[in-house]
Amino acid sequence: MSTDITLDFHVHGLGHGEPPHTPARLEPFIRQAAKKGLREIGLAEHEWYKEALKFETFTELRQMFPGLEIRVGLEIDFRRGRQDLGSLVACPWDYLIGSVHEIDGWSYDEPGEEDGFAAWDIDELYRRYFQLVAEVAASGYFQIVGHLDLIKLYGHRSRRPVVELAEGALRAIARAGMAVEINAAGLFRPVKELYPAPELLSRCFALNIPVTFGSDAHEPDQVGRGRAEALELLRRVGYTRLVGFKQQEMYTRNL
Ligand SMILES: [Zn+2]
Ligand SMILES: [Zn+2]
Repeated sequence: MSTDITLDFHVHGLGHGEPPHTPARLEPFIRQAAKKGLREIGLAEHEWYKEALKFETFTELRQMFPGLEIRVGLEIDFRRGRQDLGSLVACPWDYLIGSVHEIDGWSYDEPGEEDGFAAWDIDELYRRYFQLVAEVAASGYFQIVGHLDLIKLYGHRSRRPVVELAEGALRAIARAGMAVEINAAGLFRPVKELYPAPELLSRCFALNIPVTFGSDAHEPDQVGRGRAEALELLRRVGYTRLVGFKQQEMYTRNL
C-alpha cells in the first residue's frame, strides 16, 4: 500500500445516473474500495436521490462485504433559508455532509455556469461563499463540511489571503465540533488542487478541526483516488489522525 488512508467517506454510488438503488448498482464501488485496500467506505448520495435510497440495499451490501465497514451518509445542498433540513436528516445516517453548491440561486459548479464568476468581485464572492459555509456549521445539522473551498474550482483565486476570508467559517466549524474533508475532486478540476488548499488545512489544524477523506467518486474507478496526494498534504500540515463517523458519532483512525 502506498498510503495509510484507509477510508473514503464521499462516494456517490448512483453517480449522476438514475436510480434504482440496488446492491448490483453499488457493488462495483465497494469492490473497488476493497481492491484499493480501504477498510471503510462511506456512501453519501446527493440528497436529490434521497427518496430512491433503500436502506435494505446497505444491509445487503454489508452482508456481501463483511470485511469492509460500510457507512451511509448524505450530501446536502446548503441554501440560505431552507426549511426542510430537519426532515432530510430524519433518517439513520451515519453522517451528513453539508455542501455549498449554490450562491443566491447560482449553481456555480454546474457545467455551463462558469461565466457567472465574471459578475462578481472575487473577494466578495469568496466572502459570500464562506459566509454560507459558516451557516452550514451554525445550523447544527451536519458532521462534515463538503469540499471546503469548492469556490476555487475553476482557478479563480481571491486577492486577499483565503485564510482571512475563511476565518469566520473555520471558527464556526471548530465551534460546532465538525470535521472538514480532504476532497480529491479538485485535483481533476481546472484548479488541479485538493480541497482545501494547504494554507486552509493548516489553519484547520491550528484550530483543532478534525479531518476526514473523500474521493467524491461518481464512478467505481474513482473510489479512493487522490489518497497519496492527500496523505502527503496531511503529513506536511501535521495531522496524524483522520476521523470517521458511525451513527453520527466521531471516531479517529491513525494515519
Ligand atoms: Zn459536492
Ligand atoms: Zn459529492
